[in-house]
Amino acid sequence: MNGSPRGPRLTELALGAGVRGVLTESAGGLSPAPWAAPDGPGLDLGLNVGDDAGRVRANRALLAEALGVPVVYATQVHGADVINVGDPAAATLDSVGEADGLVTAVPGLALAVLVADCVPVLLADPVARVVGVAHAGRRGVELDVVGEVLAAMRTLGASGADVRAVVGPSACGRCYEVPVAMRDEIAARVPGASSTTSWGTAALDLPGAVDARLRSLGVGHVARDARCTIEDSSLFSHRRATADEGPGTTGRLAGVVHLAPASR
Ligand SMILES: [Zn+2]
Repeated sequence: MNGSPRGPRLTELALGAGVRGVLTESAGGLSPAPWAAPDGPGLDLGLNVGDDAGRVRANRALLAEALGVPVVYATQVHGADVINVGDPAAATLDSVGEADGLVTAVPGLALAVLVADCVPVLLADPVARVVGVAHAGRRGVELDVVGEVLAAMRTLGASGADVRAVVGPSACGRCYEVPVAMRDEIAARVPGASSTTSWGTAALDLPGAVDARLRSLGVGHVARDARCTIEDSSLFSHRRATADEGPGTTGRLAGVVHLAPASR
């Protein structure tokens, strides 16, 4: 649908009939370094990472054009608040408000979650026709943002057994090093979070914790995108960008989900 070779590169996700879910990569937009991809300009979709706001909105417009539907973004604050987006007018290329979860039952209205190491979670109940996204970093996992999004989907009619979820690319448990005390404190409360880096130090497995939480909530089908943002240079990574030799900032990729537009 977008004939430009510089358009967004999209990974299609299986979230059920009548639902489209995609993940973006760092490539395919207009942003220069340090928001670029290794092989060209970057599709930086984050408004709060130092990139030019007009350029980020242009990147967001490229993504909406590629999808063929408007896309809603929230200002993510590492919390657990969820916004039910009921009005297509909320898709403004800016922000619908401060939240780390979005849900909707409106067809043809896409919800985005932005990440660069945190876990993007995409959810859909293709039977009840409800979709949602969650931004689950360390704080979001502790605050159970995934549980809050699922609860909000249930108020719109979703049923856990029918819900399909994708745990998107994020910092993996072999890379996400944290202090021992932090690992032990969180692991005591969050099943699946405890991990060890490939070099033998304390770590958190946030995608593993999100996966375990989804299953404990009765989500019928959970899939994982195994890509690690820190290891895969085609993805944005905050940790990689802020490492000793890094540029200090980077872009944000998106997970996006929407119900198929109502047939005309
Ligand atoms: Zn990794």
